[in-house]
Amino acid sequence: MKIISIESFILSDKLKESFYFSQWEYSERRICIVKITSDTGHVGWGEGYGPAGIVSAGIEHLTPFVLGKNPLETETIWSTMYRRTLDFARRGILVSALSAIDVALWDLKGKILEQPVHLMLGGKKRDKIIPYATGMYFSHCNGKLSETICKEAMQYVDLGYKAMKMKVGLSIEEDIENVKMVRKAIGPNINLMIDANHAYNLREAIYLSKAVEPYNIYWFEEPVSPEYYDQYSELRTKTIIPISGGECEYLIFGFQTLLKSQSVDIVQPDICSTGGLTEAKRIAVLASVYGVEVVPHTWGTGIAFSAAAHFISNLDCLPGRIKNPVCYIEHDRTENRLRDELTSSDMIFKDGEIIISDAPGLGVALNEDALHKYAMSYNAASSNGRQTI
Ligand code: MG
Repeated sequence: MKIISIESFILSDKLKESFYFSQWEYSERRICIVKITSDTGHVGWGEGYGPAGIVSAGIEHLTPFVLGKNPLETETIWSTMYRRTLDFARRGILVSALSAIDVALWDLKGKILEQPVHLMLGGKKRDKIIPYATGMYFSHCNGKLSETICKEAMQYVDLGYKAMKMKVGLSIEEDIENVKMVRKAIGPNINLMIDANHAYNLREAIYLSKAVEPYNIYWFEEPVSPEYYDQYSELRTKTIIPISGGECEYLIFGFQTLLKSQSVDIVQPDICSTGGLTEAKRIAVLASVYGVEVVPHTWGTGIAFSAAAHFISNLDCLPGRIKNPVCYIEHDRTENRLRDELTSSDMIFKDGEIIISDAPGLGVALNEDALHKYAMSYNAASSNGRQTI
């Protein structure tokens, strides 16, 4: 059995309404997805998190080391790809390219063996996980921003979400006002997380966390720059709010630094950039050694969401107890037609929970019409050669 072709697509869609967070504005969605085909006629899909053009170039770089290999040997192929990137990019976007291929290989392996990814990871430890709505970004709205954000929060409540995450990082004063208003709107029974995308220095992050503590914040994500591990650990001693981070970390080595420095209460690896499902599984083991929770960062299309769902359903909950703690999955709700149209899956969202699919592989079906509608470039390599459009 062997891999006979690797195709990458860069998909793009202009947003109807742009939105922004503490770092920059989004007016377009762009993503690189990868399709891997075996000589058995099976197909696996993966995606990379990060600038799509660079991810695509990374996939092109890795392709010769993956073509012709046995698709069931996900770990062996991972090691080859890692060795081929280590000298040039121990962290960063080349690892995203590796991740995209790894996720596609897990999907492909599942389809060949007719088993869901969660089973191949070692088994499903829960049938249902709790999605938290990610949204409440900043927008150029008419009127008061806090009112627009509260309206959006209430839509999530009406849809049955039990948890949601809002952006902070605009300014301390505006953040406090927005958090206060959202908590008032959604009431006390919905978990509320905040995410600054590392907008603040330590002094500001301490001030903001103290100011929003009365609003029962479930976690404070990326309060300061991911470079400042010591500041993360100091902030943890200054607030009762759990601190989370890790979406900018790569491989077990990045997470070892984060965990060793006692920077976070919750680690948030992105499966599509941190090294794929193969490495995410190792990161989860490493986090368990430190007794730290794992809630993956999840962005992009249904491929990334499904990879995260399978991974989370397999996560160990430590310490164990009869009534297991809730396991969350990030559910991006911002405008994204690539996410909404590209895939369909039988993962059901019901009563504020996602029911995990038992379909083979990642359990997503690709909509070829949407793929061609949004594809802006295409790169393919097979035993017959290379084609770029
Ligand atoms: Mg984040």
